[in-house]
Amino acid sequence: MNIEPIPHPILLLVSAPSGTGKTTLCHRLMQAEPGLRYSVSSTTRAPREGETDGVDYTFLSREEFLRRAGEGKFLEYAEVHGNFYGTEIGMVERNFFAGHSVLLDVDVQGARLIREALSRESMNPKLRTYFHDVFISPPSLNALRDRLEKRGKDSQAVIEKRLRNAEAEMLDAAHYEYQIINDDLDSAFAQLTAIHTANTLRTVRL
Ligand code: ADP
Ligand code: 5GP
Repeated sequence: MNIEPIPHPILLLVSAPSGTGKTTLCHRLMQAEPGLRYSVSSTTRAPREGETDGVDYTFLSREEFLRRAGEGKFLEYAEVHGNFYGTEIGMVERNFFAGHSVLLDVDVQGARLIREALSRESMNPKLRTYFHDVFISPPSLNALRDRLEKRGKDSQAVIEKRLRNAEAEMLDAAHYEYQIINDDLDSAFAQLTAIHTANTLRTVRL
């Protein structure tokens, strides 16, 4: 029997309604786990203050995004809050097969599309075997509003749109392998780290 070396790389997908604290938690995980690689998504959204092209996102025009989508460059892509977001397949495969765990930060539609894509015959089954997904919830919609307002990066209209979407997104939580409630940040971070570590130590019989 062939047993994978331990620890082994995984694909860790994280989704959460906007404003829940996903970016904060993902940044902390990236700092704590030097071997982990962040899957930099492409988007047609304008950069926010402090965001760097190629680090936070690859910022593309709508035309360029759709051209790359047409060429099959994305593992998945979806329109979220009026902008396109996509996961570049080449980046995920390059990092994973070089031995790095990959952190994917995508919305609930993207998560659904990635699960579908990974289940296709044409995909390398290793990607499916090592894939895990986590849904992060806010403690309440009121707390979410408070965080979006305090973050101060979106207009009131955008915040209202994100809150409406949040209610629908939370219905998807049951489709994820893990759920974390981000009430106390340190506890949520400890839980995310535990999920990451446990899955890199899982025995996988090939
Ligand atoms: P997301 O990436 O999910 O949109 P962010 O990581 O940008 O969310 O977090 C939104 C805001 O909420 C930020 O100002 C962040 O500092 C704050 N925040 C994150 N986690 C918590 C928490 N557990 N308690 C209170 N505020 C939080
Ligand atoms: P934001 O504009 O706040 O950075 O992200 C908005 C939403 O887009 C978040 O829910 C985030 O997870 C999602 N998102 C980021 N990258 C991708 C991606 O590559 N694909 C999909 N489907 N969603 C993404």
